[in-house]
Amino acid sequence: MEDHHHLENNLKRLKMPGLARALDLRLREARENDLGYLEFLSLLIDDEMDSRENSMLAKRLKAAGFGVQKTFEQFDFRFNDEALPAKTLRDLATCSFVEQHRNLVLGGPPGIGKTHGVKAIGHQACRAGYQVLFRSTQRLLSDLCADSIERAQRELARAIKVDLLILDDFAFRSLNQKEAELLYVLADARLGTASTVLTSNRPPEDWYAIFPDPVVGGAILDRMVSAAIKIITTKGRSYRKEVMGKAKGGETVASTAPRVQ
Ligand code: ADP
Ligand code: MG
Repeated sequence: MEDHHHLENNLKRLKMPGLARALDLRLREARENDLGYLEFLSLLIDDEMDSRENSMLAKRLKAAGFGVQKTFEQFDFRFNDEALPAKTLRDLATCSFVEQHRNLVLGGPPGIGKTHGVKAIGHQACRAGYQVLFRSTQRLLSDLCADSIERAQRELARAIKVDLLILDDFAFRSLNQKEAELLYVLADARLGTASTVLTSNRPPEDWYAIFPDPVVGGAILDRMVSAAIKIITTKGRSYRKEVMGKAKGGETVASTAPRVQ
């Protein structure tokens, strides 16, 4: 450790923790390898930038509210390749649909990896620098209808402005008029300006029935679903039952062939 207190204090005041952390290592490296001044400085600036990017990513991930985080690194693409094609998921993971402000609908039976898949897409979007908000539809609606008007308005403003809004378990239950109107405000504000992802255990044609007023329901689905990228499957295999059940010693399904649930 060298005596560079003055420099370290200044780095603290300048809020450059990545550079401060890397300093001793880079100094040693520079001496051992005879680095040029410019090379040395450039390495230190890279260290600072890496550190800033990491802390901004951590902030975006926290703000997204994933709860348990899921990533594609933990995802077995072969398991449900027929229902959730690996190629489509990998395309979505590039987040070009977010850049194009397109929506995504992922529908299929429980346990096949819908939530995992959309959380992993959200994770990729955070890595790409997008602001993401992940909510179960139930949680979002209860936040939007919170008794505290301030809180409800804050949540609505946030849900409107994020680059990627992920509503998990859409069309889980019937909505009341207020909930439907709030969803309309959200869908209308985001249309063509930001991406929304919906997952559901029900096929989109069943979604009309959850709205109290077919006109509002039609307007919402028109905005959220009509032009969306759709992956709708009836035959995914339940990872929860087949793999996680097995790990726990529960009932397992021997066949690995896709099956209709
Ligand atoms: P769904 O939302 O379709 O009901 P989940 O995404 O919650 O299903 O998946 C159920 C469980 O199985 C989760 O713990 C998830 O991480 C895991 N899982 C699902 N599909 C895969 C997969 N292809 N690879 C690894 N884990 C998976
Ligand atoms: Mg789910």
